[in-house]
Amino acid sequence: MPKLATRDEATARRAALASRLTAEKVDALLVTSLVNIRYLTGFTGSNALLLLTPSSARLITDPRYTTQAAAESSTSVSIVRKRPLLTEAIARITRGKYRKVGFEKTHLSYEQHARLTEELPKRAKLLPLEAWVEEARLVKSASEIELIQESVVTNSLAFDRSLRSLRPRMTESEFAAELDYQQRKLGAEGTAFSTIVASGAHSALPHAQPRHEAIGLNRLLLVDMGARQHGYMSDMTRTVVTGKATRRMRQLYGAVLEAQLAAIDAVRPGVLCAEVDRRARITLKRHGLHQQFIHSTGHGLGLEIHEPPRLGRTEVRSLAPGMVITIEPGVYLPGEGGIRIEDTVLVTATGCDVLTPTPKDLLII
Ligand code: ZN
Ligand code: ZN
Repeated sequence: MPKLATRDEATARRAALASRLTAEKVDALLVTSLVNIRYLTGFTGSNALLLLTPSSARLITDPRYTTQAAAESSTSVSIVRKRPLLTEAIARITRGKYRKVGFEKTHLSYEQHARLTEELPKRAKLLPLEAWVEEARLVKSASEIELIQESVVTNSLAFDRSLRSLRPRMTESEFAAELDYQQRKLGAEGTAFSTIVASGAHSALPHAQPRHEAIGLNRLLLVDMGARQHGYMSDMTRTVVTGKATRRMRQLYGAVLEAQLAAIDAVRPGVLCAEVDRRARITLKRHGLHQQFIHSTGHGLGLEIHEPPRLGRTEVRSLAPGMVITIEPGVYLPGEGGIRIEDTVLVTATGCDVLTPTPKDLLII
């Protein structure tokens, strides 16, 4: 059985959101993001809507989920047969005579919006709401942190085990498949994203797709992988060298590691995300490599692999205890190769804990 947030926890999350509805005078909120529905109810199915009011919560799903919804969700449940779930939501909003009806502006399709506009009574005013549930998800609870930690450990163990079977003649795809296989064997439901294995010059693409080409000897090998376990994500990048490392490889690796450690060192409550990013960037600048660092320093993760906050140059948000983020500077040299080092990090009351247990000394296999 998947471990889920306790019913009490989901109930408390809905209560917090209900208070905000009351405070901002919103009569009902239609939640359309499945991840947000999972967060607010515990329901893990693939087709659902959640209608939340200050005093009620109703999960709307289809007959495939009759048993599952009753087992997982701590709300009232409506099972809708042979018609769109939205039809049921519209009927309930109409019957409830709600006037101010909020919706998740980034999770409602144009078509759904058009139907709401056409079919709701005139008195109902639609309000686009920005990331209300995502805001609540920013700071993780103790049980969420535990689940992320489990996912992180599975991910690192899968990496360790897979390294034992790594051979230069293996293709990038074969090694990616091995990593995925080990994750599943160790308890993951699947991967958090499509595993990246990139050797040699191919590693200069930050989001390279594994190829059916041999990894080869004396190459940089970049592996970016994450597990999804009990719904929670982990994310780690390690760059290793197959065979023999050149001086250049060691220098580049040393610079990226220095940048990663500098950024981690900056992580504590109250620090601007942009400041953490800046620390990585100024370290790479000292090595003349800042132009080769072509993405942000990290991102939040949890039920999704990319969640707020974003640790980029322009992010004005501050870190707070309970946020879980990645720290992942990298340098990418077209035609030569790329190096990235990424850990999953928990912001604590006094600083941070690096959750990822995998060592970061340059590994030569
Ligand atoms: Zn990653
Ligand atoms: Zn990442």
